[in-house]
Amino acid sequence: MKKKMLQFVSLEHATPDKRKTGERKGDFHEIYKEFIKDKAEEQSSRCSQCGVPFCQIHCPLHNNIPDWLKLTAEGRLKEAYEISQSTNNMPEICGRICPQDRLCEGNCVIEQSGHGTVTIGSIEKHITDTAWEKNWVKPIKVKKEINQSIGIIGAGPAGLACAEELRKYGYQITIYDKYDRPGGLLIYGIPNFKLEKFVVERRTKLLKESGIKFIQNFEVGRDKDLNELKNNHDALLIATGVYKPREIEVPGNDLKNIFPAMEFLTASNRKGLGDKVELFDNGTLNAQDKNVVVIGGGDTAMDCVRTAIRQNAKSVKCLYRRDRENMPGSAREVSNAIEEGVEFIWQTAPKKFIGDEVIKEVQVNKMKLGLADASGRKKPEIEENSEYNIEADIVIKSLGFDPENLPKLFSTPELIVSRWGTIKIDLDTMQTNIDSVFAAGDIVRGASLVVWAIKDGRDAAENINKFLKQKALEKSKVKAA
Ligand SMILES: Cc1cc2nc3c(=O)[nH]c(=O)nc-3n(C[C@H](O)[C@H](O)[C@H](O)COP(=O)(O)OP(=O)(O)OC[C@H]3O[C@@H](n4cnc5c(N)ncnc54)[C@H](O)[C@@H]3O)c2cc1C
Ligand code: SF4
Repeated sequence: MKKKMLQFVSLEHATPDKRKTGERKGDFHEIYKEFIKDKAEEQSSRCSQCGVPFCQIHCPLHNNIPDWLKLTAEGRLKEAYEISQSTNNMPEICGRICPQDRLCEGNCVIEQSGHGTVTIGSIEKHITDTAWEKNWVKPIKVKKEINQSIGIIGAGPAGLACAEELRKYGYQITIYDKYDRPGGLLIYGIPNFKLEKFVVERRTKLLKESGIKFIQNFEVGRDKDLNELKNNHDALLIATGVYKPREIEVPGNDLKNIFPAMEFLTASNRKGLGDKVELFDNGTLNAQDKNVVVIGGGDTAMDCVRTAIRQNAKSVKCLYRRDRENMPGSAREVSNAIEEGVEFIWQTAPKKFIGDEVIKEVQVNKMKLGLADASGRKKPEIEENSEYNIEADIVIKSLGFDPENLPKLFSTPELIVSRWGTIKIDLDTMQTNIDSVFAAGDIVRGASLVVWAIKDGRDAAENINKFLKQKALEKSKVKAA
């Protein structure tokens, strides 16, 4: 019998027609559709092994894509896995959630010649899912323990990748995280329909089995400040991500049932993980049978609209002030959302929230695109006398994230941050201006992607290793003198 595997495919979702007839529940094919192993080989063999691997160049991790495609085409999956995992700490996660249309697949030569991309992400996922299934994925066996310790603040992809790479050298690693589960946005941000939580949990379990210590429910700034933590370790990595939601300043913002995106998504993810979530259970954060309005046009907004659809909302509308071409979110996500029945209202911005204690309507203005601003994008301008009202039982604000005020939060006013609040690092060493303190991931880049966080975590590990080796050398010289 042929082995059944899962493949990332373009979605065959419930159509708006099906939604009207109530056929929606349970008929999402989600992101994965069953396919046979031969299909992976067939897809991989479509790679032309072109001399200039644009896919590899445009993958932030520079994954050796042509090599693992060739091995997969030849049915040599174990070797393909070895190559894949040598540059990526979470290939099966990237395979699921990287915006491939903007990275590897978007630059595939076959795609560019109009014949459709090799489905690199789905093959990457297939290789490592198979490795898990066949028990090829093993915890790290340290050859020689090193008596130096690193504290990592934040168990998101940047912190986890850094921890794994440093543990391979034999360092003693402790990860501190303010949430009850490790994984950062992989657990509480990205919805289950894009990234099943067991996929993240088996990764963190593996790291625990590799000897990495996790301290959950530990908030740096509340439970210990940065300098106290620094005294316990030879080096520290700050990988805390960015969580402060950008606000929208319009009248009525304080009405009930207006939520920031992360509150809505976290509640939904917690429910999926089996937690008791009072605000979801009492209906407040559950979109079922409600008219939902999501404000924003990025990937987080797409996650909100698609989550609301899966919660059986009565209607889901997405307001974005620019046009479709200028939406920051992945084009694939937008198409998927439309296919599922989300109504996009482009070139529209909220003017005020209307209601009597509780939100009832969003008054909006139509927008037109004016001259390009400093960023080169056309600036949206209000069209005079264009107001109208949209019915809303729940509004979700998804306008992006900024860093929290870390110097204040960590009681380290000396920590240098950029004018956006991201941590400034020396680009050669990834060290902050505080000795032995490094930083990586979204807290340095601003809101970005998982694959970039992994890349930063790996680079930070290399730099921390260099730093600690030097520190140990200096110590031994002092001892010898
Ligand atoms: C809703 C949503 C959907 C997304 N979807 C995608 C996607 O499909 N594909 C993609 O590539 N990217 C996606 N992203 C972006 C991606 O999740 C992030 O770029 C990535 O997780 C950043 O990794 P990180 O390790 O820097 O930070 P995070 O993942 O944010 O992890 C930071 C960790 O630090 C912890 N922390 C914060 N402050 C403290 C403190 N004071 N003390 C202790 N611990 C602390 C947090 O609890 C958290 O666990 C999405 C983001 C969001 C919000
Ligand atoms: S990590 Fe992301 S960009 Fe790189 S090959 Fe995998 S899916 Fe493509």
